[in-house]
Amino acid sequence: MSGGDNRLVVDVAIAGGGLVGASLALALAQLSLRVALLEAVPFGAADQPSFDDRSTALSNGSRRIFEALGVWPLIEREATAIRRIHVSDQGRFGFTRIDAKEQGLNALGYVVINRVMGAALWHRLNAEPAITILAPAKVQSMQLQQQVQNIECELSDGTKRVVEAKLAIAADGARSTLRQAAGIGSSSWDYEQVALVSNVLSQHFHNHVAYERFTPAGPLALLPITEGRLGVVWTFRPETAKEVTALSDAEFLARLQETFGFRLGRFTRVGARQLYPLSLTRSDEYVAERLAIVGNAAQTLHPIAGQGFNLGLRDAVSLAEVLADGRAQAGAGFDAGDGMWLQRYREWRAADRSNIVRFTDGLVRLFSQPLGPIKLLRDAGMLALDLLPAAKDGLSQLSLGAAGRVPRLARGAPLQQ
Ligand SMILES: Cc1cc2nc3c(=O)[nH]c(=O)nc-3n(C[C@H](O)[C@H](O)[C@H](O)COP(=O)(O)OP(=O)(O)OC[C@H]3O[C@@H](n4cnc5c(N)ncnc54)[C@H](O)[C@@H]3O)c2cc1C
Repeated sequence: MSGGDNRLVVDVAIAGGGLVGASLALALAQLSLRVALLEAVPFGAADQPSFDDRSTALSNGSRRIFEALGVWPLIEREATAIRRIHVSDQGRFGFTRIDAKEQGLNALGYVVINRVMGAALWHRLNAEPAITILAPAKVQSMQLQQQVQNIECELSDGTKRVVEAKLAIAADGARSTLRQAAGIGSSSWDYEQVALVSNVLSQHFHNHVAYERFTPAGPLALLPITEGRLGVVWTFRPETAKEVTALSDAEFLARLQETFGFRLGRFTRVGARQLYPLSLTRSDEYVAERLAIVGNAAQTLHPIAGQGFNLGLRDAVSLAEVLADGRAQAGAGFDAGDGMWLQRYREWRAADRSNIVRFTDGLVRLFSQPLGPIKLLRDAGMLALDLLPAAKDGLSQLSLGAAGRVPRLARGAPLQQ
């Protein structure tokens, strides 16, 4: 695999071994491609940005993908099924419920702590001989040269390493180094909101219900997790977020109680609180010569609808599917970085991405406005959602991760036909 002391030669090099990059590496390993995964932060480090204590709502499609990647059996016991979603608007008329049973499903989705997913993904990565892991290895630059990308990274001892790949993949998050190295711009909209993330314990069991409550201060999500706890994702304006973070545990619980009410009885305990500034970032292009962009490097969303990782995972397995089909078509002369495959990936992803970005961004804007007409619209929106099965089904479909052309792995079919 090595071509010289300092040079690693592979088919595909992925920058970023977070949730999306690690999943993509596992999917590509099924194609027996030589894959290098370059991750800046050592696995298990307290500051690993992708695998922290956030809880992520996984769609059924994402669950099926994790099954196919051998990750689901490792996280299943720590995954909490969502059997119902309860959406309400504080102090307003109307709320809506989405029921798994009504949809003929066992669960609308599953909630898993990012740290648990990270451990499972990396456990699987370490068992794949086709994947060479370089971590910690911080990608610094990339140069296109004679039908390959040369990616330079710095190892923890300060030495440099060059990875030569037919195809480079940017899975290195919102501030992607590879995206910038390819000269691709991005547009960013700062929501001037911050998500406060924590875990709480309530007097009554959550009973597998996920709550989304829209409040004048910002949306509040309570997700059912293990040991009867709830993952809190509470959005505020930055100044309020600071103030709420500084509250004592008792004061914080009282504030949460006042906002959420007593559906779950009293909130009794709260864990550590973390803040995440929120913006919408979109890459101007999703492919370039011998480069594909996936996950947060392609689009970073507001967590209001819990779609970011589900969308990023679909990026990853769609790209893997395009490469699987490309190889079947091209045979022995297969070149993973051929522009034909990249264009297919780009065209496939466009609709899913723009639907989810529009849906998520629209929801943020609708529920962030305290203006009169919008209040009315919100009320009407809630009512419409409850009365119109089609609208409700649209939302459920998003929760299921089943809108648009669905990648094979998300349908439970094999990656290679
Ligand atoms: C509060 C909050 C709640 C969320 N809840 C949900 C949810 O319920 N459902 C959902 O679907 N999504 C959710 N999301 C979105 C989800 O977390 C992201 O979509 C997901 O983390 C994207 O993963 P990623 O691997 O693309 O990027 P990241 O998680 O940003 O990972 C990027 C990786 O690249 C590495 N890296 C960066 N630079 C370099 C470099 N130069 N060289 C090498 N490696 C590098 C980083 O160390 C990191 O490991 C939420 C987000 C937030 C903020």
